[in-house]
Amino acid sequence: MTSPLRLRFLTSADDVSRLPDTPAEVAFIGRSNVGKSSLVNALGNRKDLARVAKAPGRTQLLNCFEVEGLGTMVDCPGYGYASAPARVRDGWQRMVETYLLDREQLTMVALLVDGEIGPTKLDLEMLALLRANDVPHSVVATKHDKVKAAQRDKRKRELAAACMLETGDVIWVSAAKGTGKDRLLSLVHTWLALR
Ligand code: GDP
Repeated sequence: MTSPLRLRFLTSADDVSRLPDTPAEVAFIGRSNVGKSSLVNALGNRKDLARVAKAPGRTQLLNCFEVEGLGTMVDCPGYGYASAPARVRDGWQRMVETYLLDREQLTMVALLVDGEIGPTKLDLEMLALLRANDVPHSVVATKHDKVKAAQRDKRKRELAAACMLETGDVIWVSAAKGTGKDRLLSLVHTWLALR
């Protein structure tokens, strides 16, 4: 079993220029409610790790965690908050895009897609943006436990196809049950070693 990541909250940055120095970085991104906080907590084996990222005023910031001396993990703002005013939304979406496209230390973007409902229009737009700009990325499907066992094979094929990927390219996880956690932990190590 891969041991959990030793994660330490570093800072919340409101701009790429204020991100901490780091040798390598992986980013987690996805729409709000996709299960990002639950997954960050599961990777760090802590219930409250990502709570800081959900504190009022921090949901639109780049929340940075140090990964045991290897680099940084960045929890990006969840996109698709329908309730945020368009002007505010546009501002931080631009900030996140600048981050994803320009950050030199970024070795991998983990794009989280809800495994139960499949990729949304916004997920596919994000995927297209990453592809068009040659940003290294991996698709992580969350909430594996919410898909009925009898439907899993079909759902895995469908979700991958909707993302224009091979079935085996999608990393399935369940923060609730721990499914896929070891694979993702070892991938995070691998990704941080890419630089
Ligand atoms: P975030 O907005 O992307 O940070 O999403 P959260 O981590 O807060 O999760 C959103 C909702 O999905 C919460 O009600 C979680 O309890 C639930 N959730 C997250 N991950 C899982 C999972 O692996 N399995 C199940 N069944 N529910 C999950």
